[in-house]
Amino acid sequence: MSADFSILDPETLAAQALGFVDVGTGGIVPPVFPSTTYVRDEAYELVSGRLYSRADNPNYDLVEEVVARLEAGADAAVFASGNAAGAAIFQALRPGDRVLIPAVMYWALRGWIMNWAVPWGLKVEEVDMTDLEAVRIALANEKTALVWIETPANPSLEVTDIAAVVELAREVGARVAVDSTFATPVHTQPLVLGADLVMHSATKYLNGHSDVVAGIVVTREKDAFWDGLKKGRFQAGHVLGPFEAWLLLRGLRTLFVRVRAQSAAAMRIAERFEGDLRVEKVLYPGLPGFLGHEVARKQMKEGFGGMMSICVNGDALKVAGRLQLFKRATSLGGVESLVEHRATVEGAESSVAKNLLRLSVGIESVEDLIADLDQALGR
Ligand SMILES: *Cc1c(COP(=O)(O)O)cnc(C)c1O
Repeated sequence: MSADFSILDPETLAAQALGFVDVGTGGIVPPVFPSTTYVRDEAYELVSGRLYSRADNPNYDLVEEVVARLEAGADAAVFASGNAAGAAIFQALRPGDRVLIPAVMYWALRGWIMNWAVPWGLKVEEVDMTDLEAVRIALANEKTALVWIETPANPSLEVTDIAAVVELAREVGARVAVDSTFATPVHTQPLVLGADLVMHSATKYLNGHSDVVAGIVVTREKDAFWDGLKKGRFQAGHVLGPFEAWLLLRGLRTLFVRVRAQSAAAMRIAERFEGDLRVEKVLYPGLPGFLGHEVARKQMKEGFGGMMSICVNGDALKVAGRLQLFKRATSLGGVESLVEHRATVEGAESSVAKNLLRLSVGIESVEDLIADLDQALGR
């Protein structure tokens, strides 16, 4: 008899991809299904229920089932990127709908919202999501369709109280979507806290190996909004390829060990450099002195994530230039540690502090990482 995967712990579901065994071969890893189309029988009925890979593919199904279970959701949909996943949520709204977005959020998704969603007709307003009174006032002003949360936020790690924002949004009938890329389902399950949708850049921790660009949205309920979002994916076609979906499932199997190790290492690094004279401040939700720490303790379990930022005293670009182990590269969530000077990457319009270096902590020896940062910070 095989195990009952409806009752097992999330790390078990992830490690065994819900106990997948290929019926035909007994293989414990699924094949890649590159077929773009699916056959019909003599009566012209679809044999597997699948029509065409812009809509359906067994590789999407499996990864969607695993992530839906990890997030305690009813269904999930993979997308060609995290931004495509985020955009799909906004595109499932109607022109004229009002949306609240946080003052600090992933800048490239914010860029898409400003350049495309706003001209298309969404009424977008920025609010400090960490300030519940500001959220309450913004929601009281005018009917709102969607509240967008990102927590911890990229790149300065602001923490938003998901359950509290959900409570305020529920009172006025607004939907809540959470970009949970930094938190991962290891630390936070936004749907359990009452959010309606959770989105991930699966390029980051879910895949974890810096070799797939992917996104995913998970829904708490299969409602009309969700049907519209799925239809939008089928019609617009920003779906993931089967090989990328296959790689993503492979990465997901080790999510829990990777993220736990990365969070533990990030905590060590944060504690080591907090108060160091060469550092102005360390931005990390795990530090008791960090502004969002109490909320993070409430809604994050098993650690505070592998992302942190360090504001240095002095020239951040010089510090980044001296790092030998941390790779100077954008992106995050992979097994190798990365450093990024966001102000350079975001360009002239960036409001990110010039002395801020964002660190994505990998799974290397934490002693090696600390030694590298220590020598790079100089005397
Ligand atoms: C990277 C990232 C995205 C965008 O994801 P892509 O896969 O690069 O399109 C969205 N939100 C956050 C928080 C991210 O870090």
